[in-house]
Amino acid sequence: MTCPNCGTNMQEGSAFCTNCGTRFEEQQASYQQPVYQQPVAQQPAGDDLRAPLTTGQFFLMDLVGCIPLVGLIMYFVWAFGSNANVNRKSWARAKLIWVLISTVLSVLLGVIFGAAFAATGTAASEFLF
Ligand SMILES: [Zn+2]
Repeated sequence: MTCPNCGTNMQEGSAFCTNCGTRFEEQQASYQQPVYQQPVAQQPAGDDLRAPLTTGQFFLMDLVGCIPLVGLIMYFVWAFGSNANVNRKSWARAKLIWVLISTVLSVLLGVIFGAAFAATGTAASEFLF
């Protein structure tokens, strides 16, 4: 225990402060104040994840997105990771939708053109032979 008047370290149960002579037990009784909990200083994790992204972050996100395969993996990580910034999450999901659309379109075009080439090839061979 410490003396509430001068802060000297005291033996437990002392009646008087050996340094300043304060009657210790009464002082201690009046010294007791309602102990209120300090508000938790730690910010909720959600605040940080809702922070706006900077220009540099957007720049890097686009740069990473340009890398084949790695960009696609990062889109998935950003879009579905539990610890990702919500803005980056929305952006990554939009990018994934575009990846899906362009993939479907290229497959469709490939099938259409492939069929067209196959048809002309067949027609040419029939014409020749
Ligand atoms: Zn004292």
